[in-house]
Amino acid sequence: MGMPPNTLDLPVARQGCDAALDRIRAKVESGERLSIEDGLTLYETPDLWSVCEMADLVRRRMHADVAWYNVNRHLNYTNICALSCNFCAFARKRGDEGAYEHTIEDVRNEARSAAESGATEMHVVGGLHPWHSFDFYTEMLRAIREEAPSIHIKAFTAVEIVHLARISKRGRDGADGIRTVLTELREAGLGSLPGGGAEVFDDRVHDEAFKGKIRGDAWMDVHRIAHELGIHTNATMLYGHIEGREERVRHMEILRGQQDAALQDWADSEGIDTTQGVVLTGPDELYKGNRMPTVETCERGYYQTCIPLPFIPDDSDLEHLYGPSGLENLRTVAIGRLMLDNIPHMKAFWIMQTLPLSQLMLQMGGADDIDGTVVWYDITKVEGCGTHQETTVSDLHRTIREAGLRPMERDTLYRPVLRNGAEWTVDKAIQ
Ligand code: SF4
Repeated sequence: MGMPPNTLDLPVARQGCDAALDRIRAKVESGERLSIEDGLTLYETPDLWSVCEMADLVRRRMHADVAWYNVNRHLNYTNICALSCNFCAFARKRGDEGAYEHTIEDVRNEARSAAESGATEMHVVGGLHPWHSFDFYTEMLRAIREEAPSIHIKAFTAVEIVHLARISKRGRDGADGIRTVLTELREAGLGSLPGGGAEVFDDRVHDEAFKGKIRGDAWMDVHRIAHELGIHTNATMLYGHIEGREERVRHMEILRGQQDAALQDWADSEGIDTTQGVVLTGPDELYKGNRMPTVETCERGYYQTCIPLPFIPDDSDLEHLYGPSGLENLRTVAIGRLMLDNIPHMKAFWIMQTLPLSQLMLQMGGADDIDGTVVWYDITKVEGCGTHQETTVSDLHRTIREAGLRPMERDTLYRPVLRNGAEWTVDKAIQ
């Protein structure tokens, strides 16, 4: 017996499309910004495949067949933290089993090893250590800079920056202290900020899951000031714990609004119509110059990539929760790609999404980046794996190629990298 006839005269993959998505599809195709209601519809529709199809359309407009990865090294310099966020399985108090704090000499050795292995980036974050002085942090950056002059240092989440502004007693007020601390960290070697610690921008969720940590407005202040100083940053969203889907969509809208401000001058110079914000995801004819900002074309800092992070309950105070499913992870990355129309990159962070699911996100979920080789990562450990969480460049290549995409190594600022073993340079020819 053959296949039943396709009575709707549609491609088989489109059968079962949710009509509620038609209006959203029209917006995506024409490059119109999606609303919060659209974001909620994308979450509620049973037609996940159409959501992915739209995200993939946008992703291909922005990145064609390229999928980015990097050769990096994560360093968690301490897990001792003054706070005790409910969802956190990483933090320890001094004297607790498993508590650690690296010395400057440890950091120096790690930087040397990273440089020798050809890493282009060190990603440095840790707990809010109760006794380190501000000088420890500038000394740590200088040690990395001395041992690995060409490595980009991406370091300190916004909560760490606020902590450093407090302990350093810099500045006349909160904003001035943050500005001064960021300036001094940059002088010591800081290249950019990672996007951690954003969690979900909602006061109810904050008070239930990470009370004591900075609220969303303080997180945004750090990134706004960094952007004003020309420092690039990333943005995360930790989802799948006690927040709802609407809170996720609102989180995305807040990020999108801040990115509009960061990109306004660049968009004006490119002749991009900004009446509905700076939309980078539309069809080619909307863009007269560059579709996307680069570190060469945009003087201000901006969000380079969004990294949706699924909550992993193991060993946290919220261990009774399930955490998000694979399909919810795929849907969230795809919706992120569609809603965050002014953030150039969408990352499937393989450490938390797993490599197989990240591959699916690259192929059909709107992701264009899979992060890097990582090596050491202590913040979360999927399915009980240890701190050593490393993958190889050939594994990343295979993952990307099997998804039908072309692997492209990048540096932290998304410039293509030319590599010969451990030697590398930024490939200016194809920027
Ligand atoms: S999430 Fe960050 S601030 Fe909160 S306890 Fe963990 S390490 Fe500390």
